[in-house]
Amino acid sequence: MPNETLGSYLTRWAWACGEEPASLSHRLGLGYFVWRQDLDRSLSQTMLCTIAQAVGVEVSVIQDMTYCAWLALAKVPVQRSGFQPWLTPVGLYHRRRLRFGQLFCPLCLKEDTHRHVHLEWRIASSWICTRHKVCLMDCCPNCGACFAPYRNDSLMLGRCERCAFPLYTAHPSSCSTHQVELQEYVNAIWHQAAEGNPLPLAWTYSEIKRVAKSSPEFIYAGEPWSFWRVLQRGQLLEIVLASEVLRKNFAACQSNFQRLYTRESARTRVRPRTCWVPPEDPQERAKKIMQIALRLHPKRSMASRVRKK
Ligand SMILES: [Zn+2]
Ligand SMILES: [Zn+2]
Repeated sequence: MPNETLGSYLTRWAWACGEEPASLSHRLGLGYFVWRQDLDRSLSQTMLCTIAQAVGVEVSVIQDMTYCAWLALAKVPVQRSGFQPWLTPVGLYHRRRLRFGQLFCPLCLKEDTHRHVHLEWRIASSWICTRHKVCLMDCCPNCGACFAPYRNDSLMLGRCERCAFPLYTAHPSSCSTHQVELQEYVNAIWHQAAEGNPLPLAWTYSEIKRVAKSSPEFIYAGEPWSFWRVLQRGQLLEIVLASEVLRKNFAACQSNFQRLYTRESARTRVRPRTCWVPPEDPQERAKKIMQIALRLHPKRSMASRVRKK
């Protein structure tokens, strides 16, 4: 399918052969445990070649189904592990997923003739399905588990891997025309980057990063913005993309766009956020201290319980 991830393709292939994805990967020579890696993001060149040989296509076709190739096309600096600009994390632990980075559209799961994972469902700038004009979801509405499409036939059945709730019957929240326009706008920027003009995309990235760090609305957010859940990320993107500044300023930016993805130098860095803003009123201040103390839950060691003689 166009815009399909590699993991999704392998899962559908295994389903068509009537076997487990792990059995298929073992049969191809990739081993049982390849599913413990983030195989949508990247695999080693040898593994990609093995898959390409088994399918009977060029390696580049298989490579294009991974995020590393997709992001590199838009001139985003890529690496095979660790933090990756524009990519949401899924927190793989064995075959479980601990983070809510994998989004899905219930209506797409319902209507796709060949149910598959769309590539844009893990790009940090996606929060709306432009086809159905609804917000994307990141967890099962019944049990709150993350969407883990390659586990327990979750993708093929369209059901939650933990509680088997039919995800294609879930009701996503609707969104306004304005929100759809913003999503289309950012999609157009991605398209431009793939066509050979990566500057607007890099500029948008640095703008989002700046607002996430400095805006008072997100002062308590402790992680990079691409790690946030879809609701908060959507709010941030709406604020940034709606500002007209963004649409004009990137033209003034220099051609050395790669630096927009790197950390700012110490001189230009914004002040690190702090959760400690002491209020003026003593009552308020005491309340705040109690809140912080309750949040910390210090672990008591056994030694501290022994009374000193
Ligand atoms: Zn959809
Ligand atoms: Zn569930």
